[in-house]
Amino acid sequence: AKEKGRNQFSVFDPSMEEEAQSRRLMLRDLQKGLDKQEFLLYYQPIVAMQTGRTVKAEALIRWDQPVRGRVNPGDFIPLAEESGLIVPLGEWIFKEAAQQVTAWRKSFSPDFVLSVNVSPVQLLSTELDCSAWLKNIKALEIPPSALIMEITERMLLESDKASDEKITELQAAGVQLALDDFGTGYSSLSYLKRFSIDYIKIDRSFVCNLHRDSEDVALCQAIIVMAHQLDIQVVAEGVETQEQHNILLEAGCDFGQGYWYCKPVTAAELTQRLQKECEQ
Ligand code: C2E
Ligand code: CA
Ligand code: CA
Ligand code: CA
Repeated sequence: AKEKGRNQFSVFDPSMEEEAQSRRLMLRDLQKGLDKQEFLLYYQPIVAMQTGRTVKAEALIRWDQPVRGRVNPGDFIPLAEESGLIVPLGEWIFKEAAQQVTAWRKSFSPDFVLSVNVSPVQLLSTELDCSAWLKNIKALEIPPSALIMEITERMLLESDKASDEKITELQAAGVQLALDDFGTGYSSLSYLKRFSIDYIKIDRSFVCNLHRDSEDVALCQAIIVMAHQLDIQVVAEGVETQEQHNILLEAGCDFGQGYWYCKPVTAAELTQRLQKECEQ
């Protein structure tokens, strides 16, 4: 039956019906999960390459669903985006991250910064209320620069005037801006022109073969030189080996993130790490 051609195939294919059903169920569970607070944030250290100290962290969402178990973001963020649920979910993420960074700044380092992934769908939504975000930050008595919003290049393709204005409003208030997964999109360079970007995050795909691919080394070096000339700092993602770390350090990369330093951990585990570093 599959040879009959695309149109017929797509209408009667039972597996598509199954998929639609499983998406409906997942969506139902996501909605419930929001009400029942089944989401939590993990934190992955971002270290200063020169000193090895944990100066920032990226908040990464996890979902502990009673029946499904631990669900990773790759398996539910796309559906949350399609359904619009990412908007209330994103509000929760932002609030939680703001509270957490406040605590870490008080206990350990007044300069500690948290980086938060912001979906293009959130920024495009008319429901997203930037002034509420900023009020929330002010109430916590931290400067908005304690938070970085990570946006992907995909944002550029989908963005409109209103979403650009939201980014600009948050930035004007002091929130920092990072371009995530740099190099994998289409319009990286025009993005650099349009916004005043604070950080570029070199995508893992350029980092994972650094130790055996001289072209990747050249690419990373070039990105770092370009970024620094534009007064942008560079975070390398997915650093898994000492060799990769050394090459990036040599190339002048500012920050590193990856399993080589630390995998994403709970807030309590990151607290321990920060405590240890403080005692050193
Ligand atoms: P991302 O923003 O590029 O996040 C980095 C991902 O790489 C994380 O996966 C992290 O666990 C993983 N990673 C970190 N170091 C290494 C390494 O050394 N090697 C390898 N192989 N992987 C590494 P995770 O947590 O599963 O998140 C996947 C994606 O889901 C994120 O990619 C981001 O696009 C999205 N996401 C995660 N949390 C959020 C969130 O709170 N909001 C939104 N909108 N998206 C999120
Ligand atoms: Ca990210
Ligand atoms: Ca990334
Ligand atoms: Ca700048």
